[in-house]
Amino acid sequence: MQLKLHMVTIEDLVPERHFLRKLDGALDLGFVYEETAYLYSRRYGRPPIDPVVLVKYLLVGFLYGIPSERQIEQRIQTDMALRWYLGLDLFERVPDHSTISQLRRRKPSFRKIFRRLFEEVVRQCIEKGVVSGRLVATDSTHVKANASRASEELVEVPESPGAYWERLDIYEEEGLEELECRTGKRRKKRVKQIKKDSRRTKKRVSRTDPEAGHMKRPGKPEGQYYLSHQTVDTDHGIILGVTVTPGDVHDSVPYLEHLEQIHKNVIPLQAAAADSAYDFPLAHRVLEEHGIDFFVRPQSNHDHTQAEFKREAFSYCKGEDTYLCPNGKRLRAKRLYRSASGLFWEYWADRKDCTSCPMREKCLSETDRQGARKLMDSYFKPAVQRHLSRREKPEYQEALKQRQVWSEGTFAAQKRSHNLTHVLRRGLEAAEDHCLLSATALNLKRMIWAMK
Ligand code: SF4
Repeated sequence: MQLKLHMVTIEDLVPERHFLRKLDGALDLGFVYEETAYLYSRRYGRPPIDPVVLVKYLLVGFLYGIPSERQIEQRIQTDMALRWYLGLDLFERVPDHSTISQLRRRKPSFRKIFRRLFEEVVRQCIEKGVVSGRLVATDSTHVKANASRASEELVEVPESPGAYWERLDIYEEEGLEELECRTGKRRKKRVKQIKKDSRRTKKRVSRTDPEAGHMKRPGKPEGQYYLSHQTVDTDHGIILGVTVTPGDVHDSVPYLEHLEQIHKNVIPLQAAAADSAYDFPLAHRVLEEHGIDFFVRPQSNHDHTQAEFKREAFSYCKGEDTYLCPNGKRLRAKRLYRSASGLFWEYWADRKDCTSCPMREKCLSETDRQGARKLMDSYFKPAVQRHLSRREKPEYQEALKQRQVWSEGTFAAQKRSHNLTHVLRRGLEAAEDHCLLSATALNLKRMIWAMK
């Protein structure tokens, strides 16, 4: 065997145009020292591993789709470019994977770094002009929890009120004032609080990860999952926000808070696109109030009434704000009804008209105990109509297309190359760290591509 002696440094072994060189030049991780200073003692203990090295260690795992900390350690041992990025020399010892695991487990406050890192990268993207807020797209994807279906048990829990329960207070007050003006009747003072939903429901909860949720959606795998809700800027596909929920939470639940957080703290949004899961009346009204144009795939409306005359049999008279029934009688707004999930105008026909009506059999169902026909409209219907009336226009269709390209394309890229298929740690906070690191890795790649 012939041996040759080479004089090389690790600098010589990493190509000039290597991605990690560009990343090193683009991303300043100096803030990690400030954020973690309070976690380290200057007087006691052995010298710690540099916190920037720890962050880079995890980041390269998500950048290169390396699924576990043990495998990251093995890759760094043999990959010169990774060693160079971490600032390790050719024969320097790679931090042990268990050190990283223990740090994440024992120092929960270290996890603040992942959110800060994500925000820092988004801030840099805005600074470099890669993000505009012109049109953003929101969607969620399922991430498998580290819990099997065998660990599930049925647990009875209170049915949580709709996501918008607290928000509805303001609109209800506004609606009641409007009702006073319309009817000329003074409203009665509410003597008791509206009851929140008091029903109880049974949920499949995992004993090994109770914070995950049992997902059961058409076309999706069933089991214990988390959902990563993400909003993507459609200019270059930069992810602006990540919210993680258990897998059994509906997409509409975190939507408004998630989008408002981006609008107020990250970048003002001009337009938002979403699929039909986000087409709920309050979203139209709230986004309109924020001046955000809303492009949503409309949900198909199902008329659940058992009577033969469905809603289409009644025509709306805009000027009078009444409905005209098939017998030519008026239905007028008489009440504002609030349920756990929404706020509705109730339009009632006059009982005298219905009592003597020849079409009564076709119009009233067995459940119409009050003897008069009622129609219900969402309180937020005007905002819904303003948005959905444009749904055939080219710009509306283009926004929905952009949503599909960027939201679904982003999830596909993260699942394929940035570890967004499953989480190894248990608990909602660990799942959020995981999803944030995956989003940060893709943002860094897209930021560097966009700056070429
Ligand atoms: S039952 Fe009442 S609402 Fe229905 S068609 Fe007759 S009058 Fe109109």
